[in-house]
Amino acid sequence: MIVIMEEVSDKKQVAVVESAIKKHGYKSNSIRFSSESIGTFPETGENAETLKELPGVKKVIEKEQNNRLARRETRQEDTIVQVGEEKIGDGNLTVIAGPCAVESEDQTMRIAEEVLESGAQILRGGAYKPRTSPYSFQGLGERGLAILAKVRDKTGLPIVTEALDPMTAPTVAEYSDMIQIGARNMQNFSLLETVGKLGKPVILKRGMSANLEEVLLAAEYIMSNGCSEVVVCERGIRTFSDHSRNTLDLGLIPVFKRVSHLPIIVDPSHASGVRENVLPLAYAALGVGADGIMVDVHDEPQKARVDGDQAILPAEFEQMMHHLRTLGNSIDIVVGCH
Ligand code: PEP
Ligand code: MN
Repeated sequence: MIVIMEEVSDKKQVAVVESAIKKHGYKSNSIRFSSESIGTFPETGENAETLKELPGVKKVIEKEQNNRLARRETRQEDTIVQVGEEKIGDGNLTVIAGPCAVESEDQTMRIAEEVLESGAQILRGGAYKPRTSPYSFQGLGERGLAILAKVRDKTGLPIVTEALDPMTAPTVAEYSDMIQIGARNMQNFSLLETVGKLGKPVILKRGMSANLEEVLLAAEYIMSNGCSEVVVCERGIRTFSDHSRNTLDLGLIPVFKRVSHLPIIVDPSHASGVRENVLPLAYAALGVGADGIMVDVHDEPQKARVDGDQAILPAEFEQMMHHLRTLGNSIDIVVGCH
């Protein structure tokens, strides 16, 4: 059940509703969007009628099918997620770029300056890397986070970086402006719950075999723990296709936008696995109405410690931004920094 409060409802009214919920033995989680606040508890009680009468309550959604904070039934308005000064979901195309992994301060700073120059709004870079092999580079850990924070301070670019487990997630939150949940962790429910409580916006990457419902429910884990600022990322799924690392499911974007008010972005780099495909897939992402793109960029991809084959060069990133802006202009969408 979801209780939607009036936009003008004050904290006291929310507290009254919450205590009424708790009195009946249910858990109450509050979540605040920009314009309204919502109290939720997992099971439908017979007391919905009494909740409806409480001051500040706008409506009570009882139907199980609608019991989703991420769904349009709960919130018609598009959710705009704020990361530093940047917005995701405001109708424009937000551009997130950077190396797959933070390798050194020098490397991260060089790439950040290049992508900033071309109009990127948010810097990406993994400090904790989920690797298929335990013998591969696992990331610089907290040292990597400190590098990202330093680069943010120098360039002004807000940073997004992955949290791998509940133990280190609070440290990731301390250093970063936005937390990434990787595809492999989309259904790591204890991590989702932890990250939902950390007070930072979240990019939730679609699991490589997750369907729409599973993605929405993963978002629900984060949101029901208090975080209203979730951005979903389509990064390609596993199919029988053997020409590409993954298959970018572009068809998800318009469907997702109909059923959910959350922003959805596209990662053409992890979807394709090869540099040559990144630009065309980025253009397609703009065409299908994605709220943003997240792209791997490296100035020495042959030396990259992770995913060098899919990293585009700074010059290619510049070219991509130029073409995206031209395409965006024709459909009234601003691309990148403005
Ligand atoms: C990444 O973005 O660094 C990453 C590991 O991606 P994914 O979780 O989509 O594989
Ligand atoms: Mn990668």
